[in-house]
Amino acid sequence: MAEHNADLVILGGGSGGYACALRAAELGMSVVLVEKDKLGGTCLHYGCIPTKALLHAAEVADSAREGEKVGVKATLEGVDMAGVNAYKDGVIAKLYKGLQGLVKSRKITLVDGAGTFVGPNTVTVGDDTYVGKSVVLATGSYSRTLPGLDIGGRVITSYEAIRLEEVPKRVVVLGGGVIGVEFASVYKSFGAEVTIVEALPHLVPNEDEFASKLLERAFRKRKITFKTGVKFTGATQTDDAVTVSLESGEEIEADYLLVAVGRGPNTATAGFEEAGVKMERGFVLADERLRTNLPNVYALGDIVPGLQLAHRGFAQGIFLAEDLAGLNPPVIDEAGIPRVTYCEPEVASVGLTETQAKERYGEIQTLTYDLAGNGKSQILQTQGAIKLIKSGAEGTPGPVVGLHMVGARVGELIGEAQLVYNWDAQAEDVAALVHAHPTQNEAFGEAHLALAGKPLHSHS
Ligand SMILES: Cc1cc2nc3c(=O)[nH]c(=O)nc-3n(C[C@H](O)[C@H](O)[C@H](O)COP(=O)(O)OP(=O)(O)OC[C@H]3O[C@@H](n4cnc5c(N)ncnc54)[C@H](O)[C@@H]3O)c2cc1C
Repeated sequence: MAEHNADLVILGGGSGGYACALRAAELGMSVVLVEKDKLGGTCLHYGCIPTKALLHAAEVADSAREGEKVGVKATLEGVDMAGVNAYKDGVIAKLYKGLQGLVKSRKITLVDGAGTFVGPNTVTVGDDTYVGKSVVLATGSYSRTLPGLDIGGRVITSYEAIRLEEVPKRVVVLGGGVIGVEFASVYKSFGAEVTIVEALPHLVPNEDEFASKLLERAFRKRKITFKTGVKFTGATQTDDAVTVSLESGEEIEADYLLVAVGRGPNTATAGFEEAGVKMERGFVLADERLRTNLPNVYALGDIVPGLQLAHRGFAQGIFLAEDLAGLNPPVIDEAGIPRVTYCEPEVASVGLTETQAKERYGEIQTLTYDLAGNGKSQILQTQGAIKLIKSGAEGTPGPVVGLHMVGARVGELIGEAQLVYNWDAQAEDVAALVHAHPTQNEAFGEAHLALAGKPLHSHS
């Protein structure tokens, strides 16, 4: 039994934990990072990276299938999942190696094993004890399921879906949130028949309704079936198929049922509650400076209520390391964190939805710019729109407080959108900037021109 001391002991080496470790080491702290699986966590190995690789393969399949539309003769012979998986795993392996190198080069002590927080400043791993001047809880999340719906066989979560060795012919996706619509998009592009079942009235229900409706229109066009406002009641499976039952009495048979009903915090087995950490529904409660109720114990990433996104974890990790180093960084505005859903078409947003903006500001002005007026979007043959929400009535000055976009590749526009929101820019500030022609980014500029009262390629 050995005791080790460090400035910082971090439990969990995912996006939040490793970002905190890297920045803290950069600032001269001694850091112990405890990880029971693979450094990089969900995002690198089971989440963002593998799904975006699948989505890229899906885009290539669509290009081959639809080449004829732009006069390029091509036929899609099929999707070879062994090839897709090799490509995907190659991307992960390269990034994983790079991350391992980074952690090593910053002299972070990486401990391989499951840690338990035993409080007040202590984490144990097997017989070893790690005592930190500060302790960071960053154990991430897992795929949830519904009561009575066991994962196994033909009932899978994203964890199994990213390693399927065949292209399913028919898939039911339970949940029309970000993960659900991304997989639905992949499977459709790969040639499967896809049905999404969502209990809430819309797909991507956390987005502004404008985005949900445009995505639904695009999915309808792509012949992705979705049933919204419908409750799932059960599933039975045989060796060959799974049958999904809905409250409406309808039954749908498929090769797989992909359960994408959200992610729960990974906090049940690491000692948090026993050590006196204040929790709610399994999440760790932390204030805006990521402090838990216990002195010198902090929490970040998916275990803290809020957006479950890798870049939120990165930002929180950097914030915490800098706060501990006495740099007094500004707190993170949760609404200023960009959100991108990488299905086809993409959905991207930052800031407030129309409903939230009305609640906060009372008077608001909205403007929708249709991508039909944008040359590059026409070249790409994509449909969609950009919606801007400004605080204050028409004709009065006020910052843009919500930006929502739907269309192929609009995720790439989120960089400028987040500057607009986070720097409290007004439409006139953005309208004065020259946007390159012909880019989709230009549509972003034109939306602001229109909001500033001087539309160019727009009828508004
Ligand atoms: C299918 C899917 C797609 C996604 N796509 C995106 C995307 O495109 N963009 C985006 O921003 N986000 C995406 N996410 C979300 C993103 O992956 C998470 O928000 C992010 O990984 C959270 O980081 P974290 O550090 O909180 O937790 P995690 O990345 O889950 O890391 C926690 C780590 O802690 C370890 N751990 C847990 N308990 C212990 C213990 N007791 N001892 C030691 N180690 C422990 C785990 O093994 C894990 O490695 C996606 C998620 C999924 C599932």
